[in-house]
Amino acid sequence: MKVLVAVKRVIDYNVKVRVKADNSDVDLANVKMALNPFCEIAIEEAVRLKEAGTASEVVVVSIGSKSCEEQIRTALALGADRGVRIDTEDGPDSLSVSKLLAKVVEKEAPGMVILGKQAIDSDNNQTGQMLGALLDRPQGTFASEVKVDGDKVQVTREVDGGLQTVELAMPAIVTTDLRLNEPRYASLPNIMKAKRKPLEVISPDDLGVTVSSNLSLLRVDPPAERQAGIMVGSVDELVEKLRNEAKVI
Ligand code: AMP
Repeated sequence: MKVLVAVKRVIDYNVKVRVKADNSDVDLANVKMALNPFCEIAIEEAVRLKEAGTASEVVVVSIGSKSCEEQIRTALALGADRGVRIDTEDGPDSLSVSKLLAKVVEKEAPGMVILGKQAIDSDNNQTGQMLGALLDRPQGTFASEVKVDGDKVQVTREVDGGLQTVELAMPAIVTTDLRLNEPRYASLPNIMKAKRKPLEVISPDDLGVTVSSNLSLLRVDPPAERQAGIMVGSVDELVEKLRNEAKVI
């Protein structure tokens, strides 16, 4: 079974995000970029399936400009076998990404496609679901456990108030939640080896997809600054303030 993993280049989660002075977007100048954390979990799961002998090949795909080859190489260093970059401008919307991924799935015919549940830059949480709809394939989103059993896969999903286990016929779409696994670090020898692994670049035209967006970003505002707290002298004063100033009790 081949496993296809979709990975996105995003701002590193440790970076404090700045907004451009004209509020037109987030400022990406000189900002450290990284693999989306949920995509790291997706790669880890695919590599574990390969190590267990369940998967035969792990192919990683990213959609964006040349810069996202850095994240494809990271995925190759973590254990993926080969990479594919679909050459677009950065930031195509989820529907365009899903249409491109659907064509890659048709071409590669994987038994499973693993995506992150969401990209931490736009927090869309849409691509896996749209891909499932476009391909008319079953989806197990927010996975905290994945068990392959013949031509079926059982996915335990993190849902409000507990866990839900579903069984999907393969080929299936899985999106990863935080507790699915703990991704490994890439070792130096594997980082070196990854430089020699195949990385194919294809255009949306090669896949017969026109990338267009029905969505435009109007404005970005940083969150409101948090007000400084105050110290109160006693419980009575706290209760008085909560009742008469904050009016919450
Ligand atoms: P989103 O729906 O944008 O929150 O993203 C969910 C998941 O879709 C990500 O974790 C990736 O697995 C995949 N994805 C989104 N954008 C891209 C992209 N440009 N290239 C490859 N995969 C992507």
